[in-house]
Amino acid sequence: LIPGSGISVDDLPLRDNLRGKSAYGAPQLEVPVVLNTNENPHPPSAALIDDVAESTRVVAAALHRYPDRDAVALRSDLADYLSTATGVSLGVENLWAANGSNEILQQLLQAFAGPGRSSLGFVPSYSMHPIISDGTDTTWLAAHRAADFGLDIDYAVAEVEARRPDVVFVTSPNNPTGGSVTPDDLRRIVEAAPGIVIVDEAYGEFSDRPSAVELIDEFPAKVVVSRTMSKAFAFAGGRLGYLAAAPAIVEALLLVRLPYHLSVLTQAAARAALRHRDDTLAGVAAIIAERRRVAQELSAAGFRVVDSDANFLLFGHFTDAPASWQRYLDHGVLIRDVGIAGHLRVTIGLAAENDAFLDVSRTLASTDL
Ligand code: PMP
Repeated sequence: LIPGSGISVDDLPLRDNLRGKSAYGAPQLEVPVVLNTNENPHPPSAALIDDVAESTRVVAAALHRYPDRDAVALRSDLADYLSTATGVSLGVENLWAANGSNEILQQLLQAFAGPGRSSLGFVPSYSMHPIISDGTDTTWLAAHRAADFGLDIDYAVAEVEARRPDVVFVTSPNNPTGGSVTPDDLRRIVEAAPGIVIVDEAYGEFSDRPSAVELIDEFPAKVVVSRTMSKAFAFAGGRLGYLAAAPAIVEALLLVRLPYHLSVLTQAAARAALRHRDDTLAGVAAIIAERRRVAQELSAAGFRVVDSDANFLLFGHFTDAPASWQRYLDHGVLIRDVGIAGHLRVTIGLAAENDAFLDVSRTLASTDL
């Protein structure tokens, strides 16, 4: 009955490298406790909501005009924030922004990878790195992590040297495993890399480790640091990702970005969120404290918990992780099966949500481990 429903994807002249692939797929389900996409559980404050409403009301008067194509005011606010957060003095020329860090990563691959080029990551890591590689027709090269999900640095450097990828992804803290790379190990990867190294710091604010922005001045043609307002800034719905790099890298991205990609509404709302950062980022400490409590209580219940520097925990060891994932869901708790045998990932939520998750975990511990 629906027009066009007689054909499937297989009938389309799709690019060969996309055939048989699956779309990014964290389920969006209506359940009481949602702990599956590493969102920040703290809703925006009343003051932030008012500021977003007022700021977007003001710019709505100019909705008939295109936005500032280069988002200069927003990038300058981001430079101010990131300079304070990292102690590295960054200018507006060092910053670039897009609709989520996923778009940042896509623009980076459009400029520096693509057909005939390759990207390499250390798996298990963020599932969008290979998907964005496929989307830009970049050959994806998977290197592996050690059994404890950390980097085996000698092997990692050897892989980079042997396979010579145009782009290396280093996710720190790593999603879905939680650990971060040491500054020494990161330096060794950057030194070995023939091309761009994207340090994906989506969860940077949850970690004590120094940011890779410290390496930009020393390796200006290599180091790109990707960040997001989706996690620590509790702005996932606002869609604002950004990067810090040498000005020449930002210039290169202007060649591939779509004109006016950041709407006036996005730019105004993101600037409002940045104005309230002291308030919002105070919630990060609460999430870290909850992460420690949840890790401890999971261990006490008999689970093995991977050390995390982020706002989530990878834990196990389940006999049948997909079946256990379903049992959490049956109890109203949505967590994530990230495809690592024996393991599931839980995002740290509010204390009451974490308690609900821990209650189900204690129930399952006697049967599912
Ligand atoms: N990088 C990593 C490691 C992530 O986990 C995520 C979100 N899950 C992103 C990037 C993308 O986030 P966003 O597009 O919301 O900035």
